[in-house]
Amino acid sequence: MIKISPTIDFNAKCPSDGADLDITGVAIPGMRCLIDSICPCCGTAYYLDLPVAHALWSPVILNQKTAEIYESRKFYWFNKLLKEGFLNQVDLEIVPIVHKFFEANRIIIVNCLDFLYGHSLLKLLNVQRHLDNDPELGCCVLVPSQLVHLVPDGVAEIWEFPVAIKEGGKWYCSLQSWMNEQLTQYEECYLSKAYPHPSHRVYDLPRFVRNLPDISPEIRGGKPIILYSYREDRLWGRTLTHQQRNLQKLYTRLSAIFPDLVFVLIGFGNNNKISATRAKLIDLRTDRFNVDCDRLWMAYMCVSDCVIGVHGSNMLLPSGLAKSTVELVPQSRLGNIFQDILFSRHFQDIREGFLNYRFIYGNDNLSDVRTSIVADLIMGIIAYNERHSFWFKVSESESNEFNYSNPEFSQLVAQYFSIRYNPNSYNLKTKLKSKITKFHLDRLHKLDTEE
Ligand SMILES: [Zn+2]
Repeated sequence: MIKISPTIDFNAKCPSDGADLDITGVAIPGMRCLIDSICPCCGTAYYLDLPVAHALWSPVILNQKTAEIYESRKFYWFNKLLKEGFLNQVDLEIVPIVHKFFEANRIIIVNCLDFLYGHSLLKLLNVQRHLDNDPELGCCVLVPSQLVHLVPDGVAEIWEFPVAIKEGGKWYCSLQSWMNEQLTQYEECYLSKAYPHPSHRVYDLPRFVRNLPDISPEIRGGKPIILYSYREDRLWGRTLTHQQRNLQKLYTRLSAIFPDLVFVLIGFGNNNKISATRAKLIDLRTDRFNVDCDRLWMAYMCVSDCVIGVHGSNMLLPSGLAKSTVELVPQSRLGNIFQDILFSRHFQDIREGFLNYRFIYGNDNLSDVRTSIVADLIMGIIAYNERHSFWFKVSESESNEFNYSNPEFSQLVAQYFSIRYNPNSYNLKTKLKSKITKFHLDRLHKLDTEE
């Protein structure tokens, strides 16, 4: 952490002449935590990134007169955000709403503002580190309204900034003044480094995700529970229509194998209409964020056997809460792998990670990711993950006992695979004693041949 009041633990040199800069104050006008400074030699005023979040690696210096940027990392989006924010400052009077839980004279500020949901959430996960390691400091969390309900218990104050997350990259003059005023109210203020990719060993999601509604009546008797994390700005398919066809087919395939399936849709947008067929369909999509809906989504994530979705921050909480994840990764996102995955802190064996977090790579619009491969992968996970996990532990455990929690899953899937991957599979004289009826095999065959 970095001390920022009453003194500032920071030194820097003028990018023009190398003189030690005079630090005149702190500027926190949004997601950036900056130092305000002036060069005693050439008289130029600069803003400099403090080593917080992404600026830990790529701090930027900005000339306050010319808006010229000095940096060495060529971290394009990060540099551009600062310059654009500085040149387009927001004059509207927007200040945080303070939720105060207890008095503290010495505080640590965790700035979770960002222009991306995923970045904000990942910064928020740093709060636990300070609650546990720095109990002598009151933790004050600067957070967009959309994440207030995820701030863990034990913080001194929540400073709720009432703007949409995507607006968090802007430069708010009113916030800058408000923060400077805040700093004078405490004996000492520190700033969290707000690591942008915290290790799964330093946070425990249940401390962030709580007060969820009881959904047991809705899912009673349903198994497995498969959740699709839906979005319309990054599609599974060339168009919304193509995505709709994919989702309908996926649901149909899974419901043909698992008669008691519950298929849940969460996410923003309602343009794709999915028709209920055999299995229970629970559609919780919405057009606009609200806290109750978010809590409902998280309640379903917590009981999901598998969550599927296109790569992106929509997969962060599902990956951290559900038993397993299947992520569809567009070609252009291959460089971002794992940035939208929250691992369980309880992983002891790296093989558990490979079991529970699966990826299917496709072209840039995922039009070549067939529903058959997604469905078969999900079936494999549902049917066999538990047994694989057992075998991984056998050498380190006294017990060699293993029982499936849902033995019918492995039977249904084994039967389906044996038929599907048998060249004579659609010879319906096969011994069809299972719940996979001729009707459903025909449906699956039709789905296969349509692709
Ligand atoms: Zn200078």
